[in-house]
Parts: sequence; C-alpha cells; structure tokens
Amino acid sequence: MKNTLLTFLLLCVTFTSFSQSLQEKFQRAKIYYSDSQQLSQLESLGVAVDHGKHKKGHFIISDFSTKELTIARDYGFKLEVLIDDLEQHFLTQNNLRVPLKNLECAALSETYQTPVHFNDPAGSMGGYFTYQEVLDELDQMKALYPNLITTKSNISTFLTQGQPDNSVTPSIGGNGIKWVKISDNPDASEPEPEILYTAIHHAREPMSLHQLIFYMWYLLENYETDTEVQSIVNNTELYFVPVVNPDGYLYNEKTNPNGGGFWRKNRRNNGNGTFGVDNNRNYEYFIDGNSGNGMWGGEGSSGNPDSQVYRGSSPFSEVENQAMKWFVEQHNFIMAFNNHSYGELLLRPYGYIENTPSADEELLDNLGAELVSQNGYNNILSAELYAAAGDSDDFMYGTVGTHDKILAYTPEIGPEFWPPSNQIEAISKSMMYHNVTAAKMTNNFASIKDTAPIYTGTSPMIDASFEIKRFGLSGNGDFSVLLNPISNNINAAGDAVSFNGLELLETQDGNIQYSLSGSVNSGDLIVYELVVNNGSFDTTL
Ligand SMILES: [Zn+2]
Repeated sequence: MKNTLLTFLLLCVTFTSFSQSLQEKFQRAKIYYSDSQQLSQLESLGVAVDHGKHKKGHFIISDFSTKELTIARDYGFKLEVLIDDLEQHFLTQNNLRVPLKNLECAALSETYQTPVHFNDPAGSMGGYFTYQEVLDELDQMKALYPNLITTKSNISTFLTQGQPDNSVTPSIGGNGIKWVKISDNPDASEPEPEILYTAIHHAREPMSLHQLIFYMWYLLENYETDTEVQSIVNNTELYFVPVVNPDGYLYNEKTNPNGGGFWRKNRRNNGNGTFGVDNNRNYEYFIDGNSGNGMWGGEGSSGNPDSQVYRGSSPFSEVENQAMKWFVEQHNFIMAFNNHSYGELLLRPYGYIENTPSADEELLDNLGAELVSQNGYNNILSAELYAAAGDSDDFMYGTVGTHDKILAYTPEIGPEFWPPSNQIEAISKSMMYHNVTAAKMTNNFASIKDTAPIYTGTSPMIDASFEIKRFGLSGNGDFSVLLNPISNNINAAGDAVSFNGLELLETQDGNIQYSLSGSVNSGDLIVYELVVNNGSFDTTL
C-alpha cells in the first residue's frame, strides 16, 4: 500500500513539473486602465488584451501569462488576480460540467436543433476536438454528403514551419492548412456569392472552431428537409478554413492533452529561445491603397519575439498568413468571418488605430447589428477598445488591389477561452443565427420586424403591420411578404405584399389585413407568422 502511494506521488510530481516546463502559468486577472491608449500601450509591451471582457475606460478581464502580468505591474498598472491557475480551473470546471450562464443562449436552443453528428463530448481533448479529430470530422462530412462538400485540401503548397515535434499526431510543423467548400455542385465553380469562415488564428480559442463544425453539420444534415438551408447551400459558395494555425493548436494538445492549453501563436522557432508569431498581427494593410503606408508593425503589436502579440519579422513572414492571402486572392469573397474567442463581441474594421471607422461604416454597423440581434453580442468597431495593427480584417477589407474589398468581421465567441465542454453546444447554437444570416446576406435578403400594436379593438379586420429592411448584398431587392395564420381563430388573411427594387439598408413599412372568427374572446392568443420570400427562399418571423 505504501509503495503504491509513493509511486502515485512520484508520478504526480513528475507530471506537474513536466507540464510546467512546457507552458507558462496563466491567470485570469482584471487590469485597470483609464483610456484606450493605455490598452494599446499594454499590447505594445507584449500583453494581449484583445480577448476578454471589457469595461471601456475602466478595466479588462482576461487570461494572462504570469510574465504578462509582471510586465503590467512593472509599468504601474493596477490589477487583481481573479483565478490563480487557469489550467486547473478548466479541468475542475470541465469535470463539474458547469452550465452556461446566459439565458439568451438557452432561449435559442429550440430554433436550431443540434446536428446528429455533433456529439457531446465533441472530442477527446477535455471534450474538445484534437486536430486529428477535426480532420476526421471533415472526412466524415465528405463521406456522408459527397455532393455537398469538397474533399479537404491544403491551401496551395503552403506548409507550416513550426518547430518540428512528432509527439502529437499529426506532427507539429509541415502541416497543410485545410479548406473545404459547402455548396451544391461543390467541385464546380458556380456564379454564386462566396463567403469565408475561418477559425484558430489563435491556437487557444477552440470554441471559435467548434461552433463552425456545428454549423457545417447543420447545413449538411438539414439540406434535404429544410428549404431555407437548401436555398443557402444552392445559392452560395461557403468556404471554411477551420484551423488557420494547426501547429499552435497541436502544441496545446501536446502540453495539455486534457484541454486548457493557453498557447496562442504559431510555433515558429524565433531563434533566440522564444517561439511563435501572432498570426493576427502578421497581415499588412495599406492605408488608401498606398504601399508606402503599410500598417503592419503599428499599434497593438510587439516587436519582441517573446510577446504574445509578436508581429513577426516582416509582413506576411508567416506561412499561415501567406496561405490566407493566397486563398483570398484566388476567390471573390463578399463577406468573411474570422472567428476568435472570447468576449461576446462582433468586431468590424478598422483595427489598426483607435476609433477609425471605414468608408463602409454604416453598412458594416447595420449588417453587424442584424447578425447579433439574436445572441446579444456587442456590435462594435474593432479598435473601439484597443488597436491591433496587422489583423486579418484590415487586410481583407482594406487591402484592395490584390483582391476586392471583403466585408470582414471578427466574432469574439463565448465567455472564456476554454469554457467547460458541456457548454460547447449552447455556445454553438448562440452563433447559428449569426452564421446562417451572414450566408443569406451575401444573396438577396431582407429581414422583417413586427410593428403591430397589441390588438385591443373590436373591428373584424385587423392590420398586421411590419417593417421590411434589405440586408442582402446581391440580387434585385425584390421581396414578397405573406401572412401565414397559425392560431385557428384567424379566419382569413389578405394577399401577399410585394416590394420591388429595395436598396441596400432601405426600410419600408407594410401591412396585411386579417380577420378573426366570431368566437374570439378577450385574452385569446392570436398567432401568425410573416414570411419573406426573396425569389428563392423564405425567411420567417
Ligand atoms: Zn484570437
């Protein structure tokens, strides 16, 4: 007995020191600040403040390495440590299966059913997918739905250059960056709007990846039976790069096989004993298209290779960024969503400098507001909270010339980097309206709002008034709206109403009359739905 105990203790000690030697300790902390310049100063000092819970002008709560917190303290920032050891915190919370504290997510759960092929737990890394399991998911999608998704492929011939390490499968270093397309006739290039969804620029943000896999399964499984899904898939080319930075993701698997790894960057050997470049600081953006006006290396990035926000030695020095640049230039994406975690935000360009809206601010703001209308995320300018020069969205939106302008956003998904894995399903569902609606926006699409007051009169004819607003980025702007009675106390409804040539963001009021049967009493529910048809699919309010 004594021997067994001793062996056990020794194993624990060995394991602990092994684990600590691989990754620094991470702590959740609240750092106080008074203006966004100070946040940018923190980023420039190498402290990553781009994911977390912000109270603008007051504090940020996020997850930091002890090294980052030392820097913040040394520069006079007041801070409180809220969770001492985040790796342990994840393992404990994961075991307890702590539920998601967000009623809005719960409310959404009925709208989008969990796909049959999306399991709980999703994968074997503390409930999260390993990288190999992500690849297996893509293969399984292809095997089951060969006519709706392409075989996973590498982006051109780009192979990652992380410090080679074959202690995980696949090895770190030498990985292709995989993409797939979901569409009808997926292997053909059809004249349909193209949309791009990416995840894992940052390795420690698994929720951004999992909600994409959930969404992909949802599209595939519901194609046959759901006319809305069918229409999206038939009329859109949906591209996915689920893991932009496989080496970083694999490194977290190596150091934390049960989940909770906090590696963020890729795994480049910087040659001075440090590793990794921040792939979301390595893009270039030219102000006004002037190549003398590059913003790589600006605010919110660091030249220190040890930093979490190290921008690399030059713009596009990293294979992951070269691959994304190449991919974007081969396509004609109208919208792009570069998914990250966390903070429950939707960020739009520009990111390189504080409070600098783009020429398309009104459009980006309006589309964003619709996208977050169900999950309640904050729809804000990327640099409203902090600057981050060299990020994906500035490049995709702003650097025209080598590709057309893309309406590029960064969703910051979920309440922390590693939520307990039993929350994956609810968080994924909370992104579904966003993901589905984004695809619709690349086509002819309008949204509708019920503006009818509560009915209190005695008239036999009642107005179902509504407001229709166009969000679709292509198509003719023609829509029809019809009233579909649900409760059987509705006797008859008027004809569908047509709207022709609606401009982007144009709003119009509409009205359809309906009559009630004689047997309606005060307090009875009157239920109907308003259905918008855009010529190829219906959207129901
Ligand atoms: Zn990120």
